Amino acid sequence: MYCPFCLAQDTKVIDSRLVAEGHQVRRRRQCNECTERFTTFETAELVMPRVIKSDDSREPYNENKLRLGLMRALEKRPVSTEQIETIISQLESALRATGEREIQSKLIGNILMDKLKDVDQVAYVRFASVYRSFQDIKEFGEAIAGLDERK
Ligand SMILES: [Zn+2]
Repeated sequence: MYCPFCLAQDTKVIDSRLVAEGHQVRRRRQCNECTERFTTFETAELVMPRVIKSDDSREPYNENKLRLGLMRALEKRPVSTEQIETIISQLESALRATGEREIQSKLIGNILMDKLKDVDQVAYVRFASVYRSFQDIKEFGEAIAGLDERK
């Protein structure tokens, strides 16, 4: 690919490694012209099911939107970007494994909450409160009580 700094066509890979449990390749590249370095991430592009929202409308699966939601829930939490990428690739594997062409957004939310519960409990509660939009304080309490049971 072209150098993002000077747009030269010749860049070379100086380091390459697997990340996100092998679902991504991270490459460090260097421009042969200006010698600037940059990083690229490579993932397989596979067709994801469409998402059925709670009002029954459909929308394309949107990885970036999910990533933003996760990052919001994980703001100032001790969770690495790598862990977030791992959660996303695990989610995508799970969705593809269903073999469905359309998936309820609720299912996506449930899978994500399940993963977050294991990674960071504060993030889990934050995410759950947005995703489930708790109707009242009782529901919220139940979610937190659910965390205690796992300890
Ligand atoms: Zn360059």
